[in-house]
Amino acid sequence: MTEKEIEAYFVKRVKALGGYAYKFRSVTQRGVADRIACMPNGEAWFVELKKPGGRLSALQEIFAEEMQHTKQHYACLWSKQDVDEWCKRFTEVGRDK
Ligand SMILES: [Mg+2]
Repeated sequence: MTEKEIEAYFVKRVKALGGYAYKFRSVTQRGVADRIACMPNGEAWFVELKKPGGRLSALQEIFAEEMQHTKQHYACLWSKQDVDEWCKRFTEVGRDK
């Protein structure tokens, strides 16, 4: 299972929940999360995707700490099971694609 596969699964699941999972790349800052997920309940989540057994780089660790420090919604998901678990907090709206 690659990170790319888990990320694609995450995007699909967010869409099914009626949200948008934007690819996030900062022009000036390395280590930011892979996706910003805007969810129908009004929450925006910074989500890092990893393959099972992967690890956060030093800059990704710093970003995670900054998100925690500023009380943002942040998650690091390491598998499709993690994605499924994260999705449970949102209500399915039955949207296709
Ligand atoms: Mg990643």
